[in-house]
Order: sequence, then C-alpha cells, then structure tokens
Amino acid sequence: MPSAPDSAPACEALFARARAVVPGGVNSPVRAFRSVGGNPRFVTSARGPYLTDADGREYVDLIGSWGPMILGHTHPDVLAAVSEAAGRGFSYGTPSENEVALAEEIVARVEPVEQVRLVSSGTEATMSALRLARGITGRSRVVKFAGCYHGHVDALLAAAGSGVATFGLPDSAGVPASAAAETIVLPYNDVAALEAAFDTDGEHIAAVITEAAPGNMGVVPPLPGFTEALRRITREHGALLISDEVMTGFRCSRAGWYGLEGPYAAGAPDLFTFGKVMGGGFPAAAFGAPAGLMAALAPDGPVYQAGTLSGNPVATAAGLATLRGCTDAVYAHLDHAAKTIADAAASALTGAGVPHTIQWAGSMFSIFITDRTVTNYDDAKTTNAPAYAAFFHSMLDQGVHLPPSAFEAWFVSAAHDDAALDRVLAALPAAARAASES
Ligand code: PMP
Repeated sequence: MPSAPDSAPACEALFARARAVVPGGVNSPVRAFRSVGGNPRFVTSARGPYLTDADGREYVDLIGSWGPMILGHTHPDVLAAVSEAAGRGFSYGTPSENEVALAEEIVARVEPVEQVRLVSSGTEATMSALRLARGITGRSRVVKFAGCYHGHVDALLAAAGSGVATFGLPDSAGVPASAAAETIVLPYNDVAALEAAFDTDGEHIAAVITEAAPGNMGVVPPLPGFTEALRRITREHGALLISDEVMTGFRCSRAGWYGLEGPYAAGAPDLFTFGKVMGGGFPAAAFGAPAGLMAALAPDGPVYQAGTLSGNPVATAAGLATLRGCTDAVYAHLDHAAKTIADAAASALTGAGVPHTIQWAGSMFSIFITDRTVTNYDDAKTTNAPAYAAFFHSMLDQGVHLPPSAFEAWFVSAAHDDAALDRVLAALPAAARAASES
C-alpha cells in the first residue's frame, strides 16, 4: 500500500458514516480505493474539468464519471436542457418526444442501427441484448472475452474486467453454476481460440459479446482483423455478434468505435449496446439493431423487456443535449487533450525509468506499468499495481484525480482546457518518481 495520502478529514468522516450504512461505503466497488489504498474523496460539486471534494480541495478530473462527462461537468447547454425538462415533470410512464429524438440521434450516428430500445444502465442494455440474441437464435450459450466487462449480468461476470479485475476476483459469488455454464470465456484477440470454440460448440452459441474496443482491463484495442474475424465466424455459424459500445459509443468518434473501424467487409455487428455518453451523466442506456431483429422484442415480439424509468424525460434531455454538443471540434479537442496528457505521462515515466505501455482506443487511453504490449487480459495483469497506486496517490495529492484502479481508461472532456492540462502535466514527473520508488 502507498504511504497515507494528504489528510482529508471531511472525506474521511463521510467515509466512516458511509461504511456504517452502505456496504464498503460505496455504491459501486471501484470507487472504494481498495486497490490503491486510502480514503475515497467525497465530491460535493463538479464543474468543467474539475471536481471539488468535501474538504474543499479541487482536482482535475480524469475519471469523467467513468465515461459519460464528455462535455465536462455541468455543461451550460446540458444544465439548461435538464432544468427545462425537470420543470415539465420527472417521469411520466408514458411515451414522450425526447425518447424519440434520442433514438433518432443514435440511429443517425451508427449506421447499422435502425432501432433502439432505451434502458437505464449499461448492465440492462447488455442483459437485454443477450436475451434478445438468445430469443432470436433459440440457442443458449454466449461467448465473452476475458477482461471484458459488460455490467453485472450473471452470465457475463465470468473473468470480467473493471472492478472484477481491480479486485482480482475470478468470478462473482452468487452466480448460479447454471448461469455461468452457458458462458464460454475466451482470450481476447485470439482468433484461433474462437474458431476452436465454434468448431466444438457452434450450433449452441447464440452470440459473441465483445467490448467494441475493450476499456475495462485498461485499454486493449482489437488487433487489426480481429473484429472482422468475430463477424465472419459468428455469421458462418448462425450466431449473433453483440458489440458493446457502452464505453466507446459516441466517445471514440460520432459513431463510437464503429465509426473508427467499421464498416467491416464481413458485415456489421448485429446488436449494439450504448450507455454512458448517451445519458450525459444521467441514467440512460440503449441497445439497438436493424429493425428486423428488434421486432422480436415485446410488444411486437416474444422477447420481454421493460423498465419503469426507461426513456426518463430528464435523462433523455441530458443525453440529447450531450450528443448534440459532441461536434467535430469536441472530438478533435478530446484527441488533443488525451495526446497531451499521454505524451507527457510517457516522458515522465521514461524519465523516471518506469517501464510502461500506453494504449489507445480513439481518445480513450490507459497506461500499463509493464514492459509488454497488452493484447489480452493475461498481459494486462502484468501491470505493476503497487507502482500505479503510488502514481495515483502522488497525482491525487497534487490535485489530479485519476481512476483509482490500474485497469481503467483515463477519460478527458471537451472542458479540459490548457489550464487543466497544465496542472496534469506539472504533476506527472513527481508521480512518475513515486511509481519508480514504490
Ligand atoms: N459495458 C461496458 C463496456 C462498460 O464499460 C460498462 C460500465 N463500465 C457496462 C457495460 C455496464 O454499464 P453500467 O455500469 O451503466 O451498468
């Protein structure tokens, strides 16, 4: 564990209160600082690229709520849209126009998607997409890749990334063997392993689900040709391909990872899942596909799926304003901000003699403290977690809040201006030295 970070008495007091009434003191495990040690910061407000905690300290935010805050915090246009929507009611339980407008915005951006169903979280999106794939194919098995995280869906928790990777958990307790038995876990970027699985089990496999470009074991983009191979092999065996763009969607480009890598010669993925950016910081997510596949969903088809708050008017207003704010200039700025930070981190780590690899998916990147190129989860696990913890705490002490895990992407926003970037750059050399001394 790293040395104790700067004291944060108000945050510590809140964490003590939280631990009494909330398991581990947090409502999502990675927030707990378990793998980096110390006390999580309790944030009281956020604006632009900055977070302010209960002790009044300000941090440049490189978590971005784990992806949604692409325009920065409390963006005026999003705030105005949310206030206006909230003034007209919080939830109707009937259809409303913003749901249609958000669906139209998504469909206009991601060419293979003709229809979307809105849900409230990425977990719901992948769970529903999987049910739809099983309903359409009449098959039960699913292939996922080690280190990919698709939310806390029973069948998809096996060898998952994100918090499951952060805590080194092989799987989750509480998942019945019957749910896991239908899941085939394969190494990422390994076409031969996929071919072998389909040779053995092809007629039973409903779908392959993959992160479009994985960000939950750190950023591990598909090797050239890998996504093509997924498409070709699934099609040959009558299985569906689910591209999970919850993290990459509308972030890597206007059309997410698909916009950077697609269209594929072998055809588009069948189903897409989205979340994070499309909710602009509010609970909104979606799954989508060509209309012919979506027709299998209730009320038209036999696959049931529903939600009390699905298409919530405030969340859809936030998502719509966020997507409309994602102009070409915003994407160009994200690329610039990410490259500025990554280049400076690389030179600081090199200067301190710390072996590292920086990996990219659009403007999403992460830094592995390892001497190898990371193409799968086994490679990712060679990252030096104690060195990352030392790096993390040095940055935190200097007013930069990185993700509190070595297995997560770093997120920049349109609001990361020169002043914010300069603060990050100024902090990096000392953090690199801390990593080298850990
Ligand atoms: N899929 C991917 C690729 C994700 O990154 C995440 C969340 N990090 C999820 C699904 C689950 O989304 P949520 O946390 O909104 O349930």
